[in-house]
Amino acid sequence: MADAASYDLIVIGAGPGGYVCAIRAAQLGMKVACVEKADKLGGTCLRVGCIPSKALLHASEKYESAKHHFKDLGIELSGVKLDLKGMMGHKEKVVSANTSGIEFLFKKNKVDWLKGEGKILGRGKVSVAGKTYETKNIAIATGSDVISLPGITIDEKQIVSSTGALTLEKVPDRMVVIGAGVIGLELGSVWSRLGAKVMVVEYLDRILPGMDNEIAKESQKILTKQGLSFKLGAKVTSAKPSSKGVELSIEPAAGGPAETLHADIVLVAVGRKAYTDKLGLADAGVALDERGRVKTDSHFKTNIDGIYAIGDVIVGPMLAHKAEDEGVVLAEMLAGQSGHIDYNLIPGVVYTAPEIATVGKTEEQLKAEGVQYKVGKFPYLANGRARAMNATEGFVKILADAKTDKVLGCHIVGAEAGTLIAEVVIAMEFGASAEDIARTCHAHPTLEEVTKEAALAVAGRPIHI
Ligand code: NAD
Repeated sequence: MADAASYDLIVIGAGPGGYVCAIRAAQLGMKVACVEKADKLGGTCLRVGCIPSKALLHASEKYESAKHHFKDLGIELSGVKLDLKGMMGHKEKVVSANTSGIEFLFKKNKVDWLKGEGKILGRGKVSVAGKTYETKNIAIATGSDVISLPGITIDEKQIVSSTGALTLEKVPDRMVVIGAGVIGLELGSVWSRLGAKVMVVEYLDRILPGMDNEIAKESQKILTKQGLSFKLGAKVTSAKPSSKGVELSIEPAAGGPAETLHADIVLVAVGRKAYTDKLGLADAGVALDERGRVKTDSHFKTNIDGIYAIGDVIVGPMLAHKAEDEGVVLAEMLAGQSGHIDYNLIPGVVYTAPEIATVGKTEEQLKAEGVQYKVGKFPYLANGRARAMNATEGFVKILADAKTDKVLGCHIVGAEAGTLIAEVVIAMEFGASAEDIARTCHAHPTLEEVTKEAALAVAGRPIHI
């Protein structure tokens, strides 16, 4: 017997996947509750991920510009000082505005926030804070959690995850980042701009695995110029904290003698894992895959009727916008509508300066798949607006089918790459050819003209180079 209200849908987890799913389901007329144990809504993204990191990325970029680059624009400043507490205050304000915004949206859409840890008691039953709720459907949207390496314990003081790296009380002199993925490059950039000497240690022989190799190489060049240093093909085997700092032991990935590094702060950024702790999945009989993710079919259904899962806790890129789209599609399917996500068209953005953005296939993937393709590239250096902005680093690269000219991928490193990529994502959603982009009128002078020229370059006819 249920001892509390019953619902059409209970979503467990109020991150971008869960809260969006809850709101969309409520918009479609369902009676919805969302379970969240943290004291704020919004999940990792809003509380300790995307949003606070973007606040620090933005603020640290401004600080660095004021200190080093304004003079190139004819602006003399003296006495530029870092107020780290003030910068953290900005970040906290942004987080709190966003998380309370979700609370407002829940009220507006009549989504109940069930505060506490949710446990699935079986089909149609969820317990939260000692109460049992009945529901027609359950959506698991519990997201992901940080992982560490064997022998390395994250204490969030000297050895931190992305969460601890967002709240350091002083700028470390020396920081070692383990992992040259998205988190390592973004948070490594923040602390490097604020004055830390940052070394990124990466197991593979390249940064940003999975991204187009040429873009990764160019990004590494740019970040190195900014002061980050990279040790590639290197495996961290231990990290021991002491009152003098952290001592790390590093071995070449290919084998060879170990070396020792010292750091004040070590950031562990080697990936995340699906978070299913204490959810009661084993007792409820919900199947997991070999990597601990909730197994679903293409309609987000688990092996148990009425139990679904979306976002980081299932297969696919661990990205907030992927989770949001899955949340919307699931809610619409539960309401009897249909929905579809093209997983090839989920953009990825790294918020370094300049940004790195990507969609569709990389050149390496096309080669591996034996697809015949053409490449069009155009540098920011040849764009008038980029010159006016002193933002001439990087390029746009478009990959198109050799026969049909259909755009298969786009990879950008350069100013506003995260904004520029949207045009190509839409073009690809509509099955556009490179010529479609090239013949579309782009306002002048804008950075988007770099994309247009890259599309022209696919046919070997860029104008400005
Ligand atoms: P990641 O998977 O992007 O990168 C982890 C890196 O660590 C990889 O390059 C890997 O080769 C390396 N690595 C693994 N073991 C290692 C070892 N023993 N020694 C040295 N290097 C090692 O993971 P992340 O940067 O931790 O990010 C986690 C997730 O969060 C990712 O899925 C990412 O997409 C997501 N995220 C996205 C954004 C964004 O979209 N802007 C921002 C932050 C996080």
